[in-house]
Amino acid sequence: MKFYVFFMLSILLMSMAEHAGKYPDREFNSPVNRDFKLSGTFGELRTNHFHAGLDIKSENGMSGDPIYATHEGFVSRIRVEEFGYGNALYIEHPNGFTSVYAHLDKFSPEIAAYVKQEQYKAETFKIDLTPDKEKFPVAPHQQIGNMGNTGYSFGPHLHFEIRHTKDQTPVNPLHFGFNVADKRAPVIQQLIVYEYNESGRVTNSKVIQPTYQSTGQYTFEAPVELSSSKVSFGVRAYDMQDGATNQNGIYSIQCKVDDDPSFAFALDEIPFEQARYLNAHIDYRQKINENRFFHRCHPLEGNKLPIYYTGVDKGMIYLNAEQPRNVSMSVADFNGNVSTVTFEVVRDMSLLPKMPSIPLHQTLAEPEQVSIVSKPGIQVVWPKGSFYEKTPLNIEVIPSDGLGCFSPHFAITPTDAPVHNYYEINIEGLAVPAALRDKAFIARCEPSGNIANCGATWIGNNLSTGVRVISTYTIMVDTIAPKISTLHFGPKMTGWKRMAFKISDNFSAKDRGRDLIYDAWVDGQWILMSLDGKSSTLTHEFDGQLLPGEHQLVIKVTDDRGNESVLEKSFTL
Ligand SMILES: [Zn+2]
Repeated sequence: MKFYVFFMLSILLMSMAEHAGKYPDREFNSPVNRDFKLSGTFGELRTNHFHAGLDIKSENGMSGDPIYATHEGFVSRIRVEEFGYGNALYIEHPNGFTSVYAHLDKFSPEIAAYVKQEQYKAETFKIDLTPDKEKFPVAPHQQIGNMGNTGYSFGPHLHFEIRHTKDQTPVNPLHFGFNVADKRAPVIQQLIVYEYNESGRVTNSKVIQPTYQSTGQYTFEAPVELSSSKVSFGVRAYDMQDGATNQNGIYSIQCKVDDDPSFAFALDEIPFEQARYLNAHIDYRQKINENRFFHRCHPLEGNKLPIYYTGVDKGMIYLNAEQPRNVSMSVADFNGNVSTVTFEVVRDMSLLPKMPSIPLHQTLAEPEQVSIVSKPGIQVVWPKGSFYEKTPLNIEVIPSDGLGCFSPHFAITPTDAPVHNYYEINIEGLAVPAALRDKAFIARCEPSGNIANCGATWIGNNLSTGVRVISTYTIMVDTIAPKISTLHFGPKMTGWKRMAFKISDNFSAKDRGRDLIYDAWVDGQWILMSLDGKSSTLTHEFDGQLLPGEHQLVIKVTDDRGNESVLEKSFTL
């Protein structure tokens, strides 16, 4: 036992030390040429993923800060998209790492000219380019673009990543010696405690509030009393750096029970293929129901993240009535500031043990097995690896209310269980009239009232699609074309810098549903229209390619079900 504990502690320390030597320190310079302030840290808990980089704040809250290459190398990839990374640049360096700069407002002029040329060649706004090594060599400190707010970004900032070039696994960029002033210890907001029965099912969970004692020290006023013999914990915490009010993610948590290490994790490297295991790392129910992120300190069975250093009992704590156990959980930021909550846990046999409340279900899904649930009119298949723990699956059939639905409503539960993989929903579509078959889709009735088009493939008389959310599904049809409205347009646009339009549709596309596709032409020639996904705005910049005179504009927008809108307008320049 002692040997094991020593061994585990050594692994943790060695691993941290090993990381320190693994990355070139001080080789990279700041992409903003100043010490940066962060609005997001590596590994921060986000919806369905861990944050893969640092979010670097703009100097004055606006777009435009010049962005510089962090090290010598060459531009290996350029991406433009309406969501996600927006305008993004990748630079491959000779030391085995690739740096990524996302949400850029602009690329440097020579890169921008190349991108535009390729967009016209392929007649598409959304593009993913991998230029030759010789095309855009970069020197350290060379400006490569400007900070912006493009893609899935809600305020000007630089999303900055450093990846291993060989497999594109993102690394915590703070390992490369960037200076972030931070003398403040993380704030521990809450703990959650899980009680288990003998067969390992959670019988009870509750959020408990530690009290702040002094800098870096938290405790509970009285011992935590529990009825179970097996318990584990989760921690909700954030970190603030100096000179900024942003509540950012923490770096690591270490748990000890009676001074023996029992569990730890550190956010050093998270492969993209595993980022969705975030939903196993956190308490997904707390996220869905309370919008709170707790780090679980006992990994769920189906969690395959490579970030854990598990020691004695992997964070599970065994209690007996006679002996209280001393628990400490230390939350650290990257600079080594630590907050620790220390407390006693005791088993109180006089408390009534909670019975596991497993809701009515047809199948108790296991993480490593395929699960199938059928009811008249529906069959749902979850592949192996869909769940992180035993999950009680059920489908309730609610007769159609006739309001545009062509099947009953199928309420799949539990809606607050995370699903890792796309799973297959097959709904009988016999009620869909032959003339509307192409317009039918699988609709998700979201708790907000929104109806999402999750895609559709006919297999015989069944409509089928793949989704990753447990919710209520039904068959609906879409015969309504998207809308195109003018935002910035006039019959005479002489001297104007741009024209802009808004596109929208009656249903939002999610999962396997396809987003709107669009194209625009002037006088029969394809023109570049950039799309901002957040505002659904199409913009064409007048860059001198269109000559003064009279022109004919055509914009075509098509939705997932093939409904098409065409806007035709003439204008003079
Ligand atoms: Zn980011």
